[in-house]
Amino acid sequence: MHKKLFIPGPVEVRPDVLEKMAKPMIGHRSKEASELQRRISDNLRKVFFTESEILLSTTSGSGLMEGAIRSCTAKRAAVFSVGAFGKRWYEMAIFNNVAADIFEVEMGKAVTPEMVDKELSTGKYDLVAVTHNETSTGVMNPIKEIGEVVKKYPEVVFIVDTVSSAAGTKIEVDNIGIDVCITSSQKALGLPPGLAVCTFSNKAKERAEKVPNRGFYLDLLSLYKYIQKKDYQYPSTPSIPHMYALDYQLNYILNEEGLENRFNRHLEMAKVVREWAKKYFELFPDENYLSNTLTTVKNSRGIDVSALNKELGKRGFQISNGYGSLKDKTFRIAHMADCKIEDINELLSNINDILGLE
Ligand SMILES: *Cc1c(COP(=O)(O)O)cnc(C)c1O
Repeated sequence: MHKKLFIPGPVEVRPDVLEKMAKPMIGHRSKEASELQRRISDNLRKVFFTESEILLSTTSGSGLMEGAIRSCTAKRAAVFSVGAFGKRWYEMAIFNNVAADIFEVEMGKAVTPEMVDKELSTGKYDLVAVTHNETSTGVMNPIKEIGEVVKKYPEVVFIVDTVSSAAGTKIEVDNIGIDVCITSSQKALGLPPGLAVCTFSNKAKERAEKVPNRGFYLDLLSLYKYIQKKDYQYPSTPSIPHMYALDYQLNYILNEEGLENRFNRHLEMAKVVREWAKKYFELFPDENYLSNTLTTVKNSRGIDVSALNKELGKRGFQISNGYGSLKDKTFRIAHMADCKIEDINELLSNINDILGLE
C-alpha cells in the first residue's frame, strides 16, 4: 500500500504531475528545450518575486547550496545556523576550502537580526548564509528583518536556503535583498526529488567573477553565462522529465491555485497542526518563529514515535521522527506542497485513534 507522505520531503506528488515525468524526451539542445527552460525561469521569477536570473540544476537542493557558498565567497562566509541544515552549509564551505565561521543558536530558537548585525559589523565577512525554514527544528527565521540588516553592508552577498519553504510561504526575494535563494523540487513545489532551482542576482554574479576557484559542475557563474549565451540551455544534460513536471506545476501554482491561495492554504494547515500539537503535546520551536510548512512537535507524552509511525503505515500514512539528536524527543508533521486541510485532519484523527487521545 502507498503511504501518504507527511514527511518534510519528498512530499506527496499529484498523479497528474507524476504523469508529466513520463512524456517522451526532447533533445536538450533543441528549440523546445530553450522554450521550456525559459518559461520555467519566467514563472519561477513570479514565485520568488524577483527580477534576478533563475538557475536550474539537476541535483537536489544541496547541490546549489554548495555551489552558492563556493561561487560567491571571496573573503569569508558567515553561516547562521539554527539546526541541521545550517550546519550542513558550514561543512560545505569547509570541505570546499572556503573560509567560513558558523554562528549557532540553541535548537528551537531563531537567528536574530541583532546577531547578524554584530558579526557583519566586524567587516570580516563578504557573504552571509541563512536557513529560512529549518526543517529539523520547525523554526522559520525572520528573513525580512535579517535582510534589513544585511542591506547595511553592501559588500555582503546574502544567500538563503528556502528549500523547505519556497512556494509554500511568501518569500519576496528582491524586497528582502536576497542574492541567491535556493529550493529543491521535492518540498513545497510538490515534485519528485532531483531538481534544484535558485535565483541569482547581479551582485552574486559580480562577486562570483572575483572568485577564482568556483568548481566546475556547480559553478553558478558558468551556469549563468551559459544560459545567457545559449538561450536558456544548460552546459550538461538536465533532467528533462523534471522540467516537464515543473513547467506543468508552475502553471498550476500560478494560474490555477494562485500564489496567495497557496500561501494561505499552507498557513491554514499549519494552524490546524499547531493547535493539535498544543492540545495533546507541546510545540518544540519558539512560538514566535513557527514554520508554515512543517511542525516539529515536542514529544511531551513520551510516546514511541517509531511505533506510532508503524501503526500509521498500516493505515497508509507516514510522518517523520525528529531529526538527528531530536529523534524521539520530537516528531515532525509536514504540511506542504499540495497537501490539503482534509488530508491533515485525516492524519491527525488517525494519530488520535492510535494513541487513544480525544
Ligand atoms: C531538505 C532540505 C535541504 C536538503 O535538500 P536536498 O534537496 O535534500 O539536497 C536543505 N535545507 C533544508 C532546509 C531542507 O529542508
